[in-house]
Amino acid sequence: MSASQSFWSPVVAGLKPYVPGEQPKIDRLVKLNTNENPYPASPRVVQAITAAAQQGLQLYPDPESTALREVIARHHGMAADQVFVGNGSDEVLAHAFFAFFQQHKPLLMPDISYSFYQVYCRLYGISAEQVPLDDNMVIRVEDYRRAQTVAGVVIANPNAPTGRALPLADVEQLLQGQPGQVVLVDEAYVDFGGESAIQLIDRYPNLLVVQTLSKSRSLAGLRVGFAAGARHLIDALERVKNSFNSYPLDRLAIAGAIAAYEDVDYFEQTRRAVMQSRESLAAQLTALGFEVLPSATNFLFTRHPRHDAALLAQRLRAQGILVRHFRLPRIEQYLRISIGTPAQCEALVAALRPLLAA
Ligand SMILES: *Cc1c(COP(=O)(O)O)cnc(C)c1O
Repeated sequence: MSASQSFWSPVVAGLKPYVPGEQPKIDRLVKLNTNENPYPASPRVVQAITAAAQQGLQLYPDPESTALREVIARHHGMAADQVFVGNGSDEVLAHAFFAFFQQHKPLLMPDISYSFYQVYCRLYGISAEQVPLDDNMVIRVEDYRRAQTVAGVVIANPNAPTGRALPLADVEQLLQGQPGQVVLVDEAYVDFGGESAIQLIDRYPNLLVVQTLSKSRSLAGLRVGFAAGARHLIDALERVKNSFNSYPLDRLAIAGAIAAYEDVDYFEQTRRAVMQSRESLAAQLTALGFEVLPSATNFLFTRHPRHDAALLAQRLRAQGILVRHFRLPRIEQYLRISIGTPAQCEALVAALRPLLAA
């Protein structure tokens, strides 16, 4: 232990913090490594934030974010008390782990999924049990039927970094298999082709759905996410939040997020553009010999049978194109490539051609 670490508590010394994708300060990069939206936020969002900045910043924001919760509730056909909002869905997920999964029983999650889940487990002393995806990288719901012996289940649907979506009927099987435990469904990418489980919250008192405005609404920089579920689950999240930070959403975030939901046309237009680019990039990569998993997200998970993934990522980087490579078991030969604008996708394909010919 170094001298500086002697001040750390044992818990902090044992943490394994999440490592986000690179955010380099270099211009003109083709940044396809962190699943951001390639399109800017709606101009109406920028207007709303500007107006909010001109008025009231000396005052605390609404601690309940009532106006935003009402807009989200209306958009999804829920009641406002079935919605909890937080500073990015990462914060919402962290509160959910704290509220529901600290139980001296393991939390089930897929072996290949969003790596932040394991980081929260370490932070809160939750034991994580990884359930292998099948050979096609699909969640096998029958492997999760372990009722009384687990603290709950967390999945991303569509999953990350695989991009694959699980049908709603399978999500229902998970819910029915764990009636006494919370099943948390992280829908960060659902707007790019998944089926949302929000429509099930009235029927399953153990279902908590989490979504974010970071990906499909181009607001990764604003930090807004939410959870939807039965009122008793939302109450638990409120208790945790009010024991931690009363004001996780500032006035600008609340105003911007409301405007994002109000600009339905912009949302539809940009998410369709991303989905179209995804299909055309998938076809081009396939033509170049890549195996591409079917994606219901704004990224592709792909490998080339004759080219090492780490090396490809490194050579793309040398040309100013960033993609994500995970040095992890089962997926070390895969690249996760975020969908860019048509021009960014073209730049990627143009850079890959000579690399693959070499
Ligand atoms: C991006 C992402 C998040 C985090 O989103 P924020 O709202 O920006 O914190 C959560 N879950 C998954 C699976 C993601 O890919």
